[in-house]
Amino acid sequence: MTTWMVAGNWKMNNTAAEGVALAQEIIAGLPDIAGRGEVVLAPSFTVLRSVYDVIKGSPVTLASQNIFFEDKGAYTGEISAAMLRDAGCTYAIIGHSERRKYFHETDGNVNLKVKKCLAAGLKPIICVGETDEEREAGITEFVVGIQVKKALAGINDLAHVTIAYEPVWAIGTGKNATPVEAEEVHEFIRNILSDVYGSPAVETRILYGGSVTADNFGELIAMKDINGALVGGASLKSGNFLGIISRALERNT
Ligand code: PEP
Repeated sequence: MTTWMVAGNWKMNNTAAEGVALAQEIIAGLPDIAGRGEVVLAPSFTVLRSVYDVIKGSPVTLASQNIFFEDKGAYTGEISAAMLRDAGCTYAIIGHSERRKYFHETDGNVNLKVKKCLAAGLKPIICVGETDEEREAGITEFVVGIQVKKALAGINDLAHVTIAYEPVWAIGTGKNATPVEAEEVHEFIRNILSDVYGSPAVETRILYGGSVTADNFGELIAMKDINGALVGGASLKSGNFLGIISRALERNT
């Protein structure tokens, strides 16, 4: 069975001191997850190294919230895969809807970033999801299907790839998809992966993201194709985040 992942996307929150304090609380409260699942923290770039110093040697791993697809050079404000590895990252979140909306990231950019990640030994967490208007128009699968296929164009191996289905209308809104709504899209994504990659797609983690809390996650993680969560708001308080991890652990029992 695919092990679950609970990843906390801190977005543009927490100074280094605040991030260290939050990571310390999470480590202190973390139950034994060995062999059962994975917990990932995604602080801002400036906070990565400080948080890494707290989590190293623990079962918690580190992700960046973005990455650039060139190796080095005149790209003011950008950050390379090598720099992120150097800061202790195992994962990189790619194509978050806030990056697509505010920074005009395209599916083509996402694909370049996924390729760069994999080439550099970082594992991409690729975000896909439809807007409210797209769901209302009945084109959720069309939109998500294109995002998944374009993100993975030219990628031969899914072994280090995680997908996060994050309906845009559910991010930071308190409106989360019902377990059945989410599962429909997760199953659709799994089928796309199976069509292209065959049986290894069964092992690919597909996370749900969008207003996940400890209260609603138990029913989501119980669904067949939901393998964890990408958590925004509820990852900023250790108690809330640890509560979500507890729901994931209950899935193992
Ligand atoms: C996110 O930012 O990826 C997210 C899912 O945010 P929230 O949990 O706050 O909806």
